[in-house]
Amino acid sequence: MNLDTFIGQKGVVATLKKALFQPFHAYIFEGEKGLGKKLLAMTFSKQLLCEKKIACDVCKSCRLFDALTHPDFKIIKRDEDRKEISVDAIREITKDISRGPIFANKKIYIIQEAEEMSTSAQNALLKTLEEPPEYALFILTCNNLERLLPTVISRSLVLSFKRYSASEISEILKSHGLEPRDYVLKLCRGNPKIALDFYDKEVQNKRDYIFEKLLSYDGASFSLIKEFENDFEKFKDDFAFLFETVIYFLRDALMFKKLSSVELITNTDKLEKVIEFSNRHTISHIYRLLQDFMMLEKYPDSNVISDNVLDMIFLKLSGG
Ligand SMILES: [Zn+2]
Repeated sequence: MNLDTFIGQKGVVATLKKALFQPFHAYIFEGEKGLGKKLLAMTFSKQLLCEKKIACDVCKSCRLFDALTHPDFKIIKRDEDRKEISVDAIREITKDISRGPIFANKKIYIIQEAEEMSTSAQNALLKTLEEPPEYALFILTCNNLERLLPTVISRSLVLSFKRYSASEISEILKSHGLEPRDYVLKLCRGNPKIALDFYDKEVQNKRDYIFEKLLSYDGASFSLIKEFENDFEKFKDDFAFLFETVIYFLRDALMFKKLSSVELITNTDKLEKVIEFSNRHTISHIYRLLQDFMMLEKYPDSNVISDNVLDMIFLKLSGG
């Protein structure tokens, strides 16, 4: 893959293509998780380091890059057993950078999920960003720009990643050998990672489990909500998925109730279940469950749910 074959993010890709021969010293790739920030950072880095600047796959630089042993390329990320990227990790870069590149005329550092840097780590990085050697190039990927120091941001070129169109998601799925499905395109909200996750067996099982649970609703929301609450343990790494699956299902059921048509249903692979549920309950029953479930959003782990998601779902609902 190179910048010409990268699917989506046309604006960012265009900027990077122009920068191939004279890149800026620091970029921040910013946007929600799953939008391909790391993939594009890797693609750009490989192409920059390639002897022909095309990510040819065959030159020495490309082969070293693919083996992740390129001496002029490093990825820095938080250690799994640590809470943040420490100042020591950044100091190592500062030391390493003084040695200059070996093969290429660039030395590239990707700081992955850079918002995980401690404040002292960010301050240490700042010193390098203020007076970088001309061969140095930093790419910071960041899911939450607010957690970076304004001084770090102002020394970098911020490139914002956007959600993908349905046709771009389809292309990405096909490039992974997957057949694009209507419900995936509707439910992934333009996020390729969410789209790809739907093809995971475990995710499919979880989704079926949630649907079965919702179909057991007998109009007494209290007991069902209690059961979902107990499921937080099971879904703790994946609370957003549980939450969104329930919300979208209830939204679909309300849509069907209001319009008596399947046209605007998102869970198109589960139409029968949506219709069964919708026929079994009154609008006020469904609303009550929805409202009670929304209260769970106050659950401590639930800060993963962005207000955007809710706005989007309900905007659609009220807008018809
Ligand atoms: Zn090459």
